[in-house]
This record gives sequence, structure tokens and C-alpha cells, in this order.
Amino acid sequence: MDPSSLSSFLNQQGYPAYRYRQILKNYLSARPASFLEMTDLPKPLRHQLDSNFKLSSLSLSQLQPSQGAVKAKLQLSDGQMIESVLMDYDQWYSVCLSTQVGCPLGCRFCATGQMGFIRKLTAEEIIDQVHFWNNYLYQQSPESSSKVDRLVFMGMGEPFLNWSNLILALDFIRSPQGWFVGQRKISISTAGIIPQIENFTNLDTQINLAVSLHSLNQSVRSEIMPISRQYPLDDLLSVCHQYTQKTRRQLFFEYALIRGVNDRPSDLSLLIKLLKSNHLFFLNLIPLNLTSHGMLPSLPETVNLFTQSLSKLGLNYSLRRSFGSDIQAACGQLIVNPKLPV
Ligand code: SF4
Repeated sequence: MDPSSLSSFLNQQGYPAYRYRQILKNYLSARPASFLEMTDLPKPLRHQLDSNFKLSSLSLSQLQPSQGAVKAKLQLSDGQMIESVLMDYDQWYSVCLSTQVGCPLGCRFCATGQMGFIRKLTAEEIIDQVHFWNNYLYQQSPESSSKVDRLVFMGMGEPFLNWSNLILALDFIRSPQGWFVGQRKISISTAGIIPQIENFTNLDTQINLAVSLHSLNQSVRSEIMPISRQYPLDDLLSVCHQYTQKTRRQLFFEYALIRGVNDRPSDLSLLIKLLKSNHLFFLNLIPLNLTSHGMLPSLPETVNLFTQSLSKLGLNYSLRRSFGSDIQAACGQLIVNPKLPV
């Protein structure tokens, strides 16, 4: 649902302001499946809304549940598809949101990157993913009050290349008029779009920033993440230091361990040096999830060597739990068949 067009429509039609609040409350509760089911509204208004608006810009195409995660393939109004993932952390639900159909950055280890770029999502399509999962949780258990608690912008696409819609969606999601999700419960991951990291730093927000690092060797990183040719590693690290200096907040580096590519002893030494250089840097080691890119995850003994060495030195890191790799729902595995132009 597009809250701002809805509000203008109601104003133009001369409805009192509380009608907008009522509709928004219904949308946020994610209980009614259509405007027609909003029984607290007068019938003529329900029909008017039903013929002029869509409660959600997304329709479910396929749902794949797995241990701890559910992946949804969602169709957009122009027929394009995206994927979005719900993760159950026992204490809370987290959703991995997509911001683009496909991705222009072509990271070699990522299925989304291999499908190319189709288009950016609108702010409405981004917020409707949250609505979709809240509705899913309600359908699963109407008596419980379970809802999405945390959001990670790590699905399909590079969020910082859809900056204006990302900001519009975030403004709604965290506002008292929206779901009011705490800023610290939202994370945005970027492949390293330096000008937007600077813009994000200047926003002075408490939203978490994650940078997909994956190598501290410029030539290796450029090979697996072509964006590194445009925004080289040294410049990226310097803007990361500026971020922590200015915000005094932790910055998270994502590092998928890839056998023979970024898991050599020299890579470990560079990671140690990086973490020692700034106590606000935090490393998330990620077991590489298999796609058709032909790269392999690091061997368990290599992963152990990395974690033991970092632990011994008391450095800030975690070995991330991977959700949904059996249903291609984990990091770097989201992909859909793009709709071809007619
Ligand atoms: S890892 Fe992220 S930035 Fe890279 S291609 Fe995949 S979706 Fe795009």
C-alpha cells in the first residue's frame, strides 16, 4: 500500500483525517486480506478503496518453508518477481528484504548478481514485504501477536543503489505512524558504494551498517566483486573509519569464506590487522552458500583456524548462522527468472 497516495486520495474525497489512521491501522495489523474486509470502515469507502488501490503491491507466487526460514517468491504488479525471506530466531522474527529486481553489481559468489539488473523496487514494494510477512505470521497463528521484529536489507539488490526509495521506506517503517521498528533492529548491507556510505554517515541514524567485504586484497576483491574496481578497497576502508569516527557506532563487515580464494593465512593476517585497527569494526564470518557459481565453501578446518585465531586475540567477530540454504534462501542464493519484455 502506498500511504502517501492513500492519504492524498482521502483528502481529495473530503474524508476526515481519522479515516486514514483507521486504514493504516488495518494495514499495519496485516489482518484484513483486502480493503473489503476492513469492517470498521463504511461500506461505500471500502468499495471505493478496493477499486482505486491495492492493499499490497505484492502477490504470493510460491512459499518454501524450511528449518528456521521461509522463502517467498513474490510477484510485483508488472509481473516481475522478487524473493524475500523470514527467519525465526526463536526470540524474534527477522526479515531479509529485497530492494531491486536482480542486481547490477554481479558479485561472482551471488546468484542475484548473476541474473543481472531489471529494476529498482518502489518504496511501496519494499514496505509491502514487511506487511506480507506480518500477514503470514498472523495466518500461521491468529491468536498469537507474533510479528516481524527485525529487518535486514540483504536480499536481492544493492540497497544503496535505490537510495531514495530506501529512505522513503525506512522513514515509514520506523515512524510512529508505521511499524515503529527500532532503528537498532534494522541493518543495511552494502557492497561498498562509497558516496552513499558517506550520505548514510551524515544521516546520523542508529540503523546498523554492514559492508560486504569478502577480501582485503584489492585484486581478489575486484575479481569477486567488480564494484571494487570503481570503489577501491583503500577508499572503502577509509570511509568505514570515517563512519565509526563520526557515529561512534559499530560497523559490521560481512566475509563469506571461499575455499582457496579468501581463506589463506595471508587473508587471516589482513583480517586481524583490520580488526586491530579499529575497535568498532566487527567481523561477521559467513559460511559460503552454494549457488551455481562454482565456488566452494572453506573447509571446516580452515573455518576453525580463522575462528580460533580471532578468538585467541579477543577480536570482535562472529561466525554467522546460515538460514535456509536448503531452499536457496540464504545469503547470495536469491534468484528469480526475470520477466522478458513483450
Ligand atoms: S552480493 Fe549483494 S551487491 Fe553483490 S550481486 Fe549479490 S545482491 Fe548484488
